[in-house]
Amino acid sequence: MTAKETLTQSIESNIEAYMELVQTMYDNPEIGNEEFETMALLVDYLTKAGFETQSAYVVPTGFLATYDTHKPGPTIAVMCEYDALPEVGHGCGHNLIAAIGVATGEAVKKVIDTYGGKLLVVGTPAEENFGGKVSMADAGVFDDVDVALMVHPATNHGVGSRSSALYPLKFEFFGQTAHGCHPDLGRSALDAAVMSYVQINLLRQYAAPNSYIHGIIKDGGEAANVIPGYASLEYYFRAPTMAYATYLKDRAVKAVEGICLANDVTMKTSVYECPYDDTVINYGLAELLTEKYQEIGLTDIAPVDEIATGSTDVGAVSYKCPTIQGFIKIAGEEVGAHTIEMANATISPEGKQGLIDAAKGLSFTILELLEKPEVLAKIQKEQEETLAKLAKV
Ligand SMILES: [Zn+2]
Repeated sequence: MTAKETLTQSIESNIEAYMELVQTMYDNPEIGNEEFETMALLVDYLTKAGFETQSAYVVPTGFLATYDTHKPGPTIAVMCEYDALPEVGHGCGHNLIAAIGVATGEAVKKVIDTYGGKLLVVGTPAEENFGGKVSMADAGVFDDVDVALMVHPATNHGVGSRSSALYPLKFEFFGQTAHGCHPDLGRSALDAAVMSYVQINLLRQYAAPNSYIHGIIKDGGEAANVIPGYASLEYYFRAPTMAYATYLKDRAVKAVEGICLANDVTMKTSVYECPYDDTVINYGLAELLTEKYQEIGLTDIAPVDEIATGSTDVGAVSYKCPTIQGFIKIAGEEVGAHTIEMANATISPEGKQGLIDAAKGLSFTILELLEKPEVLAKIQKEQEETLAKLAKV
């Protein structure tokens, strides 16, 4: 049997077991940082498949499954997401991402001894809210990784997308409460918050294309007959790069400082959620996955989407090593992301076929990286050059 036949056979002969994982996660969706049962399910499978596993790795619901050939070669990481969403369960299809990762890992494990190197299946939880990959990247999990890969279910096949850098900032305003009929004794935190909201809206006009500033008034007082002594705003500053998101945030802070002076209140800022880096695209990897998708018979494969429409913690990994997040079609374009319809697609025949195709695409890609060090070298060179360019921005 050729290596490719071994990979294909591994994926196809175990498909019912993978679909059982998908179904179990679908039936028991757990939101970010609460995926304890899901972690146990996946760790149990990978342990039985012969991986050395660690639960609660870096973060409480993270895991690491390792297969080391103890021979020189690259370190390849396959990433699994498995957090669900409130209300819509696996409406982002992360249950399928996890099974694709497991299937890819189990397949590659059967061929990697011939080539050498180390294979990691990394359980990266809480993509939707707490950024498991950010914690893991910060902890150095990807420092010695040569390539990190994953595939996300979607409404089209694709080989990657840019994502916005995201800087979440909270503004808190502190004034003086007073009776509504004694406003002269009070200083309104709400007035400062409202003025800040308006001023930050004005800032939008001067932001470069593909930057987004969106926020809410989180606290605006408790009763109409009390001058509010406390108010707060929560904002997302998004931009093509973290440098520009930070620049926009700095401008907003400066403006709000002026507004606080005008209203005689004080202010405090805090980073209230996990900042997400933008995603560094590796076109060499994108080309490779395109080739493999074509090889297994997929058509209409979208090139890298250059316009970011959201943010992801994959960005943090992409600054540590060449990274790809491909897409696999499991539903028609009428199905929106984060919907019950998308969750249902993960357990449909299309979801099953998507799992097979994505795992084949990924494992064939990894095989080529193992077989041809020159291909890996080219991808790493591109990564170095891109990061050097970004550092100058
Ligand atoms: Zn997702």
